Amino acid sequence: FVAYFSQLFGSLEKAQFGLVKGIELKPKLEMIKEILDVNDEQDFETTSPTPLKIKGEIKFQNVSFAYDGDRGQVNNINLHIKPGHLIGIVGPSGGGKSTILDLLLGFYTPDSGSIFLDQYNLKEIPLKELRSKMTLVSQDVFLWNKSIKDNLQYANPDASIQDLEKACYEAQILDFIQQLPQGWDTVVGERGVKISGGEKQRLAIARALLRNPQIILMDEPTSALDSKTEAHLQEHLERIFKGKTVIIVAHRLATIRNADSILVIKDGEVAEVGTHEELLERKGIYDQLYREQFQAN
Ligand code: ADP
Ligand code: MG
Repeated sequence: FVAYFSQLFGSLEKAQFGLVKGIELKPKLEMIKEILDVNDEQDFETTSPTPLKIKGEIKFQNVSFAYDGDRGQVNNINLHIKPGHLIGIVGPSGGGKSTILDLLLGFYTPDSGSIFLDQYNLKEIPLKELRSKMTLVSQDVFLWNKSIKDNLQYANPDASIQDLEKACYEAQILDFIQQLPQGWDTVVGERGVKISGGEKQRLAIARALLRNPQIILMDEPTSALDSKTEAHLQEHLERIFKGKTVIIVAHRLATIRNADSILVIKDGEVAEVGTHEELLERKGIYDQLYREQFQAN
């Protein structure tokens, strides 16, 4: 029953987390568990200290996971990400990139293998604690029908207007906000002022910055930006994310060109690993993707 329920609500749960990314609200599954009065069994086995202090090291050890229980969606993934590193993930659509982030965020648990955050097995960390260490900037950004200021302060109620300005400047959205007639008080969201996908994404990045977690996950975060804005943003992101562990699933290879390491995920497996230069030299999948994008431009 629980399995059916979590399957049914899998996407809903994800959507809900999408709504609250960067915001301290209970994820859907926890809400459902509360309604059903089922205790979060993870809390019984907790051996990680609370509050958890982490450096931001991430390890996947032989991690396999399938949504439907038999077809392999990710297969025997091994990763070791050092604290403070910037990692790029690329690869064909449907290859398992988002699934890797979902596993890391605790939306799903591996069928086999283990994931570690510093020395702690992910399954020993309470979800709430886990998600306070990470933020996800995804493709579909949700904005409440509230002012820009409110939307940003959800991420950090203590943030001053100076903090908002700084985060928005770094996310390359400050000029846009300041030229709006209502400025910070402009109401956005479905019933508010229409803003573009690129502007939404930059607000989401500002929100992530305001929340200031140790680990930042981005799932094709710049897909709606034009390449000039993206290039500007990218320069800033490298600077402002210094010291944080950052994983960026990128459609455009330019976004992750300077990553400490790039993973090519294909058919649920790590097909290639290396820096941009190393992967080009390999003349494999990455090199081919690079040529395709280079020729397309
Ligand atoms: P990518 O992000 O690389 O495009 P995904 O991780 O989203 O790939 O998907 C990997 C595989 O898992 C795909 O075959 C996809 O159809 C499948 N998949 C993704 N999400 C779900 C889900 N909630 N239920 C069942 N299958 C899914
Ligand atoms: Mg994806």
